[in-house]
Amino acid sequence: MRIAVLALQGAFIEHEQMLERLGVSSLEIRQKRDLESSYDGLIIPGGESTVQGKLVRELGMFEPLKEQIEQGMPVFGTCAGLLLLAKEIENDDRCHFATMDIVAVRNAYGRQLGSFYTEADFANIGKIPMTFIRAPYITKASGNAEVLAAVDEKIVAVKQGNQLVTAFHPELNDNISVHNYFLQMVEENNRRDNK
Ligand code: GLN
Repeated sequence: MRIAVLALQGAFIEHEQMLERLGVSSLEIRQKRDLESSYDGLIIPGGESTVQGKLVRELGMFEPLKEQIEQGMPVFGTCAGLLLLAKEIENDDRCHFATMDIVAVRNAYGRQLGSFYTEADFANIGKIPMTFIRAPYITKASGNAEVLAAVDEKIVAVKQGNQLVTAFHPELNDNISVHNYFLQMVEENNRRDNK
């Protein structure tokens, strides 16, 4: 199994380190030709959604990545990665891949006091650490999008088919369970494809 990490901007190294701890090889997606490599899943890291959205377009990766996701490539978006996958961002006119039936709010906890740590339940896992950094939250999950976690009644993790998003940064804590959860999605997808 090999997981691609979009490595244009933001906290991609932390995801690679997490994958290494889990014994899974990773590859960085930095330019269009990297998309031709073979990989079983994709991580879109936290950072700045506007910058990542601009760079994927400028580098000609927007359409091919969107197509891969629409064709069922397992994808895990954290924080800015969540915003890249959302069909709608309430306080931003832009949207990006727009492959997930969620409505998100950017910098939803305010810009100054926007960073905090908490612990909350995650479906099928239990209580886990959650680090939020100028994070979005989700105001609506529709279609077959399943809510996996909420903090103070705000949705912070959703799964929809091959797509998983968290408003927090599981790669910044020691806890490996959310990455494991994603790797299980990837394994199931590989099994379905008889890889
Ligand atoms: N505030 C960032 C954005 O709107 C997301 C922050 C993060 O990824 N830690 O893109």
